[in-house]
Amino acid sequence: MIDVSSVSFTYAGAGEPVLDGVSLHVERGALVCLCGANGSGKSTLLSLLAGLFSPVQGTVRVGGHSSPGAERALRAQSALVLQDADLQIIGSTVEEDLLLTTGTAGAAVAAARGMADRFGLGGHWNSPVQTLSYGQKRKLCLAAAALRAPQLLLLDEPFSGLDYPAMCELRGLLRHNAAEGLTQIVSVHDVEPLADMADTMAVLHKGRLALDGAPEAVLEHAEAYGLRVPCSWRTNRTIAPWA
Ligand code: ADP
Repeated sequence: MIDVSSVSFTYAGAGEPVLDGVSLHVERGALVCLCGANGSGKSTLLSLLAGLFSPVQGTVRVGGHSSPGAERALRAQSALVLQDADLQIIGSTVEEDLLLTTGTAGAAVAAARGMADRFGLGGHWNSPVQTLSYGQKRKLCLAAAALRAPQLLLLDEPFSGLDYPAMCELRGLLRHNAAEGLTQIVSVHDVEPLADMADTMAVLHKGRLALDGAPEAVLEHAEAYGLRVPCSWRTNRTIAPWA
């Protein structure tokens, strides 16, 4: 499904590459935990996968389309949910924001309303977006992404700032998407909410892919890259030899 091959990327005007020789393979339907410290290059890699930027070196291949070259096709098949909902929401109400994705045909409006209900926003259909809570704005962005029915869902730090119930809801959504066979890449600086769900984990460190593989194997070495290993995983490892 996805092949990132020896990708390097430098922002215009910046000297140092933000991504440096990154290669990553993702199977169709996988849930990938893309982790790393702040500034390690996670958002930049997601933007390349979404076709928003082109690699300076190397290629990003998603579903048979390659960048550089086919960024438009990459954009069409993926949905990227940004960390900052305020940068993503373009409508002035829930209705307007979702209809900007679906269009205003009768069936499209019904689909948008249904999605608003599914994300708990049905009662806010006509609400100005500035009256939504932080969590509701994040849900609006997730609902808009779901309406696009992407082949690849890219979520940038979706857990940050969520309270426990919202975190559980998001975990439920990821599980539901995985069961539907959707390929999902989720960036996190803290692996805790995803460690037990991810099929694979990839760790970026200063723009390079430091670790990639099964979560158990990656977590074994994750602390060396500044990642907090979940207590539950640590406890299991400690107890296991005595069991
Ligand atoms: P992460 O998502 O892991 O926090 P980012 O991909 O956002 O990392 O950022 C990686 C590096 O790229 C950081 O040093 C950041 O300052 C830099 N960077 C991000 N966006 C831009 C930009 N638009 N222009 C220049 N540098 C940027």
